[in-house]
Amino acid sequence: MQLESLELIRESSFDWARFHAYRVFDESLQRFIIGRKSYVTTHPQQLDLEAAFKEIRSCFSEGFDDSSANFEEKVRSQFEVASEESKIVFANVEFLWAMPMGNISPRTKRGYAKRWFTDESEVVTGERYFFGSPHTIANPGLWYLMNKYWELIALLRVLNLVASDEEVVDIASAKKRIAELSYAAIYEGAAKEGHFAVTKVCGVHSALLHLSAPDKFESIISENHKQQIAKVFEHVISDRPEIKCREQKIRLIRERLYDDYGDEGDPDRKHRWFFYLSRLKPLWVGKSAASLKIASIDDEVRREQAALDYSEVEGGKEATIAYRVYRSAKLVTEAKKRDDFTCQACEFTFRKQIVHVHHLDPLSERQSPKQTTLDDLVTLCPNCHYLAHFWLRKSNRFKKIEELLQKLRSIYS
Ligand SMILES: [Zn+2]
Ligand SMILES: [Zn+2]
Repeated sequence: MQLESLELIRESSFDWARFHAYRVFDESLQRFIIGRKSYVTTHPQQLDLEAAFKEIRSCFSEGFDDSSANFEEKVRSQFEVASEESKIVFANVEFLWAMPMGNISPRTKRGYAKRWFTDESEVVTGERYFFGSPHTIANPGLWYLMNKYWELIALLRVLNLVASDEEVVDIASAKKRIAELSYAAIYEGAAKEGHFAVTKVCGVHSALLHLSAPDKFESIISENHKQQIAKVFEHVISDRPEIKCREQKIRLIRERLYDDYGDEGDPDRKHRWFFYLSRLKPLWVGKSAASLKIASIDDEVRREQAALDYSEVEGGKEATIAYRVYRSAKLVTEAKKRDDFTCQACEFTFRKQIVHVHHLDPLSERQSPKQTTLDDLVTLCPNCHYLAHFWLRKSNRFKKIEELLQKLRSIYS
């Protein structure tokens, strides 16, 4: 694990606490984990968390069957003989599982806590505790609900370890530990042994990672979504091969894409749910492995053309950092003229339009800005251009114009 990547420094001035989920997360850590008192119920007593986690382990974790039988029925029978204290602790854990999720209604969230307690006044009330979007952090798929047993085990594991850690003395140290444990569970599988062992991928780890350090970790809880985003936009950060941590990759991708995709008029989108913008989501969501690659090359080609259109003469605006290229629109036009507005591979031409200009080594300038010359550019039709990027990903030899054109021509002969 790259510890530096977990340093919980504030890197933006974004005010997360404006949204209830972040405030409630901090408050419940302070009250429940540090102060050992119930957050979601009104019971005033000091809680023996060690003893409660132990009892929950034996009645819930060790005695649970992971079948599709009704969760409510199962959990009620499991806690039938459990102490009130264990029920209070479980209610707080279950609250933390549901609290940040937008598609579990506030009423349902309160309903979980009310399960154990018949007196209305025993459970806190109000939007301060039970809320929906925009105060939540994500809308997980049905899998989050279907997988509730494993998600709760994963959460119990993290909270149990944090509560028994002597170095956890305040909100900051609690968050740091939570982030470390969640990160290790996702990337090192370090949750498969010991008490509350988890054998499934759990969204709650990503939720905890984000809540602990929202500036560092995106509000994406789906493992699948993280995979797709990292894959489809990998070309956006291909000049930074030293970054190994996927969480860091996704954050850098977001920063770079922001220049191009903006926030659709909602400035909060820069930090929250950026990848779910209506302009961005279709590029990556629900893609099969094969179409992920197509989407990725598509975006790369589109991005290259946008950068090539950038004109030093007009406005002097710098090309976006996502595809920083230092060349003028004038040079692009010169390349097209030189090639007579004709694809140099298949000879496609149409009214001096449609054709693209491809940079033979698109990455070279990103590593060390150098002046592009006409020799670096070649006119290609959109089809050949797409294929050029396809082959370029397979081998660097297609940076040579002869090799590239020969390969492209071989497709048509
Ligand atoms: Zn062509
Ligand atoms: Zn290109």
